[in-house]
Amino acid sequence: MNASAIESDVVRNAARGSWLSVLDDLAPEIDKAIEKPGQRHIACPVHGGKDGFRLFRDANLSGGGCCNTCGPKPDGFSLLMWLRGWTFPEALSAIAGVLGLSSDSHQPQRIVHRKAHFDQCKSSINDDKIRALLRTVWQESKSIHHPDAEPVRLYLQSRGLDGWLPNWPSLRFHPKMQYRNEDNQVIGYFPAMLALVEKDNRAITIHRSFLTGDGRKAPVESPKKLMPVPADRLIVGSGIRLGNPGRVLSVTEGIETALSVIEATGMVTWPLISSTLMSHFIIPQGVEKLIIWSDLDRTHAGTFAAQKLAERAKTQGIQVEIREPSGSLPIDAKSIDWLDVLNQSGPNAFVFRSLS
Ligand SMILES: [Zn+2]
Repeated sequence: MNASAIESDVVRNAARGSWLSVLDDLAPEIDKAIEKPGQRHIACPVHGGKDGFRLFRDANLSGGGCCNTCGPKPDGFSLLMWLRGWTFPEALSAIAGVLGLSSDSHQPQRIVHRKAHFDQCKSSINDDKIRALLRTVWQESKSIHHPDAEPVRLYLQSRGLDGWLPNWPSLRFHPKMQYRNEDNQVIGYFPAMLALVEKDNRAITIHRSFLTGDGRKAPVESPKKLMPVPADRLIVGSGIRLGNPGRVLSVTEGIETALSVIEATGMVTWPLISSTLMSHFIIPQGVEKLIIWSDLDRTHAGTFAAQKLAERAKTQGIQVEIREPSGSLPIDAKSIDWLDVLNQSGPNAFVFRSLS
């Protein structure tokens, strides 16, 4: 065994039985799930949604948890790598730090390997099935310019967008998308707007907005849902490619927010789905300037995500601008985004004069 293998076993053994406090330190955003492992369901800390994530009942021993969409994370290492976008060595050193282990404490101990907990996760239908499902859904989809795609156009108009869209290959319409609840029961079939989630030109999964025939959000618990992610693909780093970026790329969290930026500015703008995914976004080659149209929300999640992405872009030599809706949050609002700005102030509010 080499030194790093020994070290990883030392850390693994030390973490066993202390994972909840390790996670509390390194992943405070899942504190509600840490309070009640195995019982409390919370929004997925990576992709968002409503309540698809929970820790395993034995999380203090295993450190593992599961998102019904992103899939099972059998132990604390894989959970933190997924959540933080860390490599294994990065996760190892962070966990060792929390446990107060210096890197030269190579005391070999008896290693107890635990069985993985894949069987506890509802989304763990096998990967071949997930891949086949993603392929089938995409093959069944139609252009958003197709006459049948009227629900998408009506929906976008109802949100205050003009409803006209370029025919991007990544944005499609599905006439009859199956909706399942968190217990995996089929609730019904709805028209849906589909968006392909990609990383490095590789499809990761599909984002779905469930609609009604007359262009409202479908009357379901989570009208916006990602399809499951096969275990050999990691959603962290990905985005929805609405058009090819040149030297400048704009990014947002939500799809409708991206469409508002496109409508107001004509810039190539990619939605990145959630604040966590925004902070881990892999900026494509050739982009020299990144404009982050961030959400303004009460928890500051959008602001933090924008800052994190901006810092990383700068270390890569990319010029960055963060554009946050100006003013303060109305008392009754959880957040405002650039679609709200478009609806309240019109496209002129998107004009920024750069000082040169
Ligand atoms: Zn997830």
